[in-house]
Amino acid sequence: MSTSLIERYRAHLPVTDATPIVSIGEGGTPLVELPKLSERLGLEIYAKFEGMNPTGSFKDRGMTLALSKAAEDGAEAVICASTGNTSASAAAYATRAGMRCVVLIPDGKIALGKLAQALAHGARVIAIDGSFDDALRIVRELVDRTPIALVNSLNPFRLEGQKTGAFEVCDVLGDAPDALCIPVGNAGNVSAYFMGFSEYLEAGTSSRMPRLYGFQAAGSAPLVDGHTIEKPETIATAIRIGNPARGQQALDAMNSTGGRVAAVTDEDILAAYALVASTEGVFCEPSSAASIAGVIAARERGDLKEGERVVCVLTGHGLKDPDTAIAESPDMLHLPAEYGPIEKAIIA
Ligand SMILES: *Cc1c(COP(=O)(O)O)cnc(C)c1O
Repeated sequence: MSTSLIERYRAHLPVTDATPIVSIGEGGTPLVELPKLSERLGLEIYAKFEGMNPTGSFKDRGMTLALSKAAEDGAEAVICASTGNTSASAAAYATRAGMRCVVLIPDGKIALGKLAQALAHGARVIAIDGSFDDALRIVRELVDRTPIALVNSLNPFRLEGQKTGAFEVCDVLGDAPDALCIPVGNAGNVSAYFMGFSEYLEAGTSSRMPRLYGFQAAGSAPLVDGHTIEKPETIATAIRIGNPARGQQALDAMNSTGGRVAAVTDEDILAAYALVASTEGVFCEPSSAASIAGVIAARERGDLKEGERVVCVLTGHGLKDPDTAIAESPDMLHLPAEYGPIEKAIIA
């Protein structure tokens, strides 16, 4: 039986013996070397493959704690606004906890796999004619007026759970890396990694604070542009957020480490997405590839020095978004069920 993330890092988490642990075996995801990209960029690059969590994204790290604390409080229902992965994770962990789950999503702007998950787990899925930011505004009002518990990353337990990603990186490498590259949407995860690295540093478990580099999609980059984006646009739907709830906290965190926030274009994101899939055998979703596009850009800009050890967080699994995978890949062949044409197609 797999141990839960909460059990493994109990000493660092706000739980007690009275906290019922809601777990589906999250965390403990692989730290995969990326040899081709490392050689090309003159760096030592690892992917923290968060797509290997139970629902296929890092959101499970936060959700195990958020739902455990909601259960401790006696909550009967949870709600979130979501670009997709939060709803998939909330739906799964709410089911596990025996709670009802309501999710608000931007209509037509979430990847197919994520929608399938939320529906399969029996969440009440409400698609609104608006953006993620609109959905979050409505959800915040709902939790003020009803007893439903909020499980967006405004919920502090989400970040407490997600900081374990930083612990695992240090535990596997034996110390913190020189730098971390990570996609930024609502800016909760980069804030959580900062918390995790800070705690390990203070405890003397690690010896350094990595420079944190956060990457937004160029059409949806409020932290880079310095203002709210009314109509964020990007193919990276998980980071299609114009008004990040944890924006200032994340900016302060990145700046304090000597890192920074930067934007990468959709074109660069899709190229990076295809690159890791086709050369490293690692399949992440497009939003996750912002960290790969980001490490390439950061190296070109001189932010990363020869030989440095860098971890790219691949936030979600490629299977989440089959439409983009098929659209961005070479076509398949359609042939009759006969030996001749098939041999010809293979040999030619
Ligand atoms: C949620 C999510 C992000 C963004 O994380 P934030 O905490 O909102 O910054 C990035 N990638 C994927 C795949 C996600 O699901």
